[in-house]
Amino acid sequence: MEQRLYCDSPYLEEWQAEVESIVEKGGRYHVVLSRTAFYPGGGGQPSDRGTIDGLAVEDVYEQDGHIYHVLGKPIEKKAVACRLDFSRRFDLMQQHTGQHLLSAVLYRLYGCKTSSLHMGEDELSIDVELPEMSGEMLIAVEDMANEYIYRDLPVVIHCVTAEEASKIELRKAPPKEGKVRIVEITSIDRSPCCGTHVKRTGEIGIVKIVKTEKRGNETRVYFKCGKRALKDYQLKQDIVTGLVRLYRMSESDVLAKAEAAFSQLKNVQKELAEMKDRALRAEATGLASSSKSRIIEKAYSDKSFADIIILAKYIIESGDFIVILGSIPDKRLLFAHSGKFGINCGQTLKEHLPAFKGKGGGKDNWANGGFNALDDMERFSAFLRDELSKKGIT
Ligand SMILES: [Zn+2]
Repeated sequence: MEQRLYCDSPYLEEWQAEVESIVEKGGRYHVVLSRTAFYPGGGGQPSDRGTIDGLAVEDVYEQDGHIYHVLGKPIEKKAVACRLDFSRRFDLMQQHTGQHLLSAVLYRLYGCKTSSLHMGEDELSIDVELPEMSGEMLIAVEDMANEYIYRDLPVVIHCVTAEEASKIELRKAPPKEGKVRIVEITSIDRSPCCGTHVKRTGEIGIVKIVKTEKRGNETRVYFKCGKRALKDYQLKQDIVTGLVRLYRMSESDVLAKAEAAFSQLKNVQKELAEMKDRALRAEATGLASSSKSRIIEKAYSDKSFADIIILAKYIIESGDFIVILGSIPDKRLLFAHSGKFGINCGQTLKEHLPAFKGKGGGKDNWANGGFNALDDMERFSAFLRDELSKKGIT
């Protein structure tokens, strides 16, 4: 088996290796090396990236006891220089070790286990066996986790047999056979794990919980460590600074101001909707009283289709009318009536809309259709009036 350098030397960035084998699959080259520091992924940690002989490593995975490095081109040489994308690896080590610490603190404070870990390029979360987590609990967890970071405690790796592992108190059950790799954060945690970790807790930088979600009897805890937490702080600082500038208030007052402004906006929207409703009702009454025809046909450039629906409702409420009302901005037409005309609006639209490149349908006395072009909507409106005329309705 190839030498796995990431186990004992997680900070190794460059090394020499020999190419043991290359397999071509679908235009990609799967390479096995004599020694590798590329972590193949596992335990929730994504696989590493970097270069082999200057070629980008697109993926790394383990299969049948070998680590495969996926390249876009074949390697011609036997001896190759390898380089790890250490910036990415260090980020993953910060997140991964931070996860051990967070899970350990949750276990210590609330006796709850971590059932799963999800570590993506951007998002990081654990599912913990707790149905609820209050704001106070989250603060207590964050405070304790960060205290262990300030103490800059050693993170030590022990390789033991499964039998030896069974006698050690561990946060997670170890494998029942083979060698077991135990990651110990001094004075807080011992856990079996095959991933890569920083050597002291100080390198985690910070553990910050950013969000929680209830998932059945568990809670999903989203968090960020190290540089990711710093980037998140910078982003949030930009947001707060923008709000402070907008409202011309101090940071401590800006949330209350934003909440008040939101509430004010809701009230204004409600008042506006009521005023609009009154205006539409008045317009409907005017149209109904001045119309010499049972048909009210009109297209509006200043009304949305939502407005047309309200207008039509008030017209029909005020008497026996057929309405053919269009919204020019929405390119949508309403065909409806008060129910005493023996006309099936939905069926009429279903049968004739395709000839006008329109789509829609509806019920017996209420249907609507949408168009790609205004011209088609206007032609269809005229067509409906002609059809009504043929039935003697004018
Ligand atoms: Zn680990």
